[in-house]
Amino acid sequence: MAEKVIIIGSGPAGWAAAIYAARAELRPLVFEGAITEENRLAGTLPLGQLALTTEVENYPGFPAGNLAAYLDDSIESNKRQMMPPHAGHGVSGPELMELMRQQAVNFGTRVVTDDVVEVDLDVHPFRLTASSGEVHETMAVIVATGARANYLGLESEERFKNRGVSACAVCDGALPRFRNKPLVVVGGGDSAVEEADYLGKFASTVYMVHRRDQLRASKIMAQRAMDNPKIEILWNRVVDEVLGSESDGVTGARLKSTVGKEDLRIEAAGFFLAIGHTPNTAFLRGKLEMNEKGYVKWTTPMRTHTSVEGVFAAGDVADDYYRQAITAAGTGCMAALDAERWLAAKGL
Ligand code: NAP
Repeated sequence: MAEKVIIIGSGPAGWAAAIYAARAELRPLVFEGAITEENRLAGTLPLGQLALTTEVENYPGFPAGNLAAYLDDSIESNKRQMMPPHAGHGVSGPELMELMRQQAVNFGTRVVTDDVVEVDLDVHPFRLTASSGEVHETMAVIVATGARANYLGLESEERFKNRGVSACAVCDGALPRFRNKPLVVVGGGDSAVEEADYLGKFASTVYMVHRRDQLRASKIMAQRAMDNPKIEILWNRVVDEVLGSESDGVTGARLKSTVGKEDLRIEAAGFFLAIGHTPNTAFLRGKLEMNEKGYVKWTTPMRTHTSVEGVFAAGDVADDYYRQAITAAGTGCMAALDAERWLAAKGL
């Protein structure tokens, strides 16, 4: 029998959509993504990008404080064991995501730990194929697959992936190979500052390599970079090559100048990318209208409807502008309400 609604994706948009859809008695089925090495390397494991961050200081409702007892009470103990110890902050990304997932499950959401790899939106009910080969039919779909970190695309970067090259400081920064060593962060946005700040806890120096003479980061974050004595910003520089050896992995980087200065060679044990994101929409190519960067298009302003009736999109997969946890959750709610109303109007 066809599902009423399938939600693809397990970040804040996916879980918010699931909470609303479950409470509307649509019995949502969430594909939270598969736990595979490929997804780990791509940054597309279940629970999305927030699971790859540390403290979340801007999600309303979590001022500083110690949530430890609440977390112990709210989330299964085996999940708690997998999470870093609560350090008296408001809430961390992994904690927030587990709380959202649990809240969705509490209202009857069913969860499949697999990827949707193909969709047929020309038939109704729609047909979704999982990587296991299982096919699921559904009346409505909410796409909430988010986005993932970009790489520069250098051959040398590819060679040292997992051996010093990473797009997630929070996942990899604490590894012994990076302790008390100089590290590189590429980028000048909020993510780059966040990563550099985090890595500063372990590194001797963090070189932020930025291609311009001004950070893109918000004022408060830019100030954080300036104030951190461990961070040194290398302005007007782009990476020409990640240097390293088979035995040691990354050992440094060669940087070109964007303003005509000489190349600069720096020593570094780690090389972290923070240069923006790509939406996880490959499996939807040619099926839904997207913008030139591959983000799913909303066809009506302030509605989550897409170019296919009955398919809705929420979160970063449809937003290359705000990209916040709170906006993702907000549009997840909107997508569930839009789906519910659409199903009701169709008598489905
Ligand atoms: P972003 O704001 O798009 O910044 C990307 C940075 O990477 C820019 O500085 C860009 O340089 C640089 N870049 C892009 N392609 C490059 C390339 N090929 N080579 C070298 N440099 C390259 O992305 P983001 O930092 O991931 O932030 C995305 C959104 O999330 C923003 O809205 C941000 O506010 C939000 N965010 C917020 C927080 C927070 O508040 N704590 C933390 C993380 C992210 P140019 O500046 O020259 O374009």
